[in-house]
Amino acid sequence: MTSKVYLIEAAAGDGEKTISEKARRLFKAGDFADCYEENDFTAVKVHVGEDGNTTYLKAPCIQGLVDELLALETKPFVTDTSTLYTGRRHNAIDHTILAEEHGFGLDGLGIPFIAPDGLFGTAETAVEIDGELDKEVSIAYDIVRCQSILSVAHFTGHCAAGVGATIKTLGMGCASRKGKMRQHASLKPSVKDNCTRCGECFSHCPADAIAIDDVKAHIDQDKCIGCAECVAVCRFDAVSYDWQQENEILQKSVAEHALGALKGKKGRAAFFNFVISVTRDCDCFDDADMPTMVDDIGIVASTDPVAVDKASVDLVESRGAKELPKLLENDRLDARHQIEHAEKIGLGSTSYELAEVT
Ligand code: SF4
Ligand code: SF4
Repeated sequence: MTSKVYLIEAAAGDGEKTISEKARRLFKAGDFADCYEENDFTAVKVHVGEDGNTTYLKAPCIQGLVDELLALETKPFVTDTSTLYTGRRHNAIDHTILAEEHGFGLDGLGIPFIAPDGLFGTAETAVEIDGELDKEVSIAYDIVRCQSILSVAHFTGHCAAGVGATIKTLGMGCASRKGKMRQHASLKPSVKDNCTRCGECFSHCPADAIAIDDVKAHIDQDKCIGCAECVAVCRFDAVSYDWQQENEILQKSVAEHALGALKGKKGRAAFFNFVISVTRDCDCFDDADMPTMVDDIGIVASTDPVAVDKASVDLVESRGAKELPKLLENDRLDARHQIEHAEKIGLGSTSYELAEVT
């Protein structure tokens, strides 16, 4: 099967209002309105940007998409689940306040931010899937309950999954806390001898799995939930795990959770990747002005979550004149694992036809 993917050129320099209008043009050109019905509870899945991050996709950039849903008389809500790691997206209350501060709520977009996995990230539904790793995945309760989804992903690199785009947004971003832990289960880091005992990993570990002695930090593998927070916060590159083997399993699990998040929503979901400000690390990092790996490309959209990610990766590789692992400066991080596995389990197709919208 060959899926249709739509592209409109856009860059951060266009300004938020123009980007929003371009997203709206893409929505109309691709007839994405066909996915939505009057009175649908429509989940607009976003990433509101970690506190301190400045390169996340800003709320005004999706106003045009929200307005299209409102014009269709759906009941859209912006949404994202709680993170495993500590920070301001760790529970629904702090997450909702941050979302409002970043314009993802009633004041900014004119629609509410609603955490689909409840106050603590534990409101979930077990969804049966025909996966290779799992036959059941834990998905946020309101993602399963709502009638339709508009997925809005900021395309970035990702320290464990290779890229953060549509499949990652659906798989990790729509899973409950238990579902996230399942995806991270294979990631068990260890601490190398160059540890400086700075204590950053200790204070960020949500599982109380790190102890620091006179020599270095140590990770209790039985307590560790594999959230990779210590990998992210260590400034000395002293936390490591077997990327080659482990990230492949994580990526497959992400794809299987994406399959669960979309179960029962065939023809009732559309996927937008904003390939703008393409940073090497994702929007969960609280860093300002992270460097980009390629020039801005635009907005890529499809009703096929696999095709939209494959097309986005192809565009980034073409713009950067290198394969993604080289652009990520990590030969062992290859996002193809999640894309190929997603196709294998029936999430979508890697074969696509690209239509440019002006
Ligand atoms: S953050 Fe890195 S350097 Fe600091 S204590 Fe943890 S492992 Fe050691
Ligand atoms: S030790 Fe395990 S649980 Fe703690 S931050 Fe690292 S990956 Fe997460």
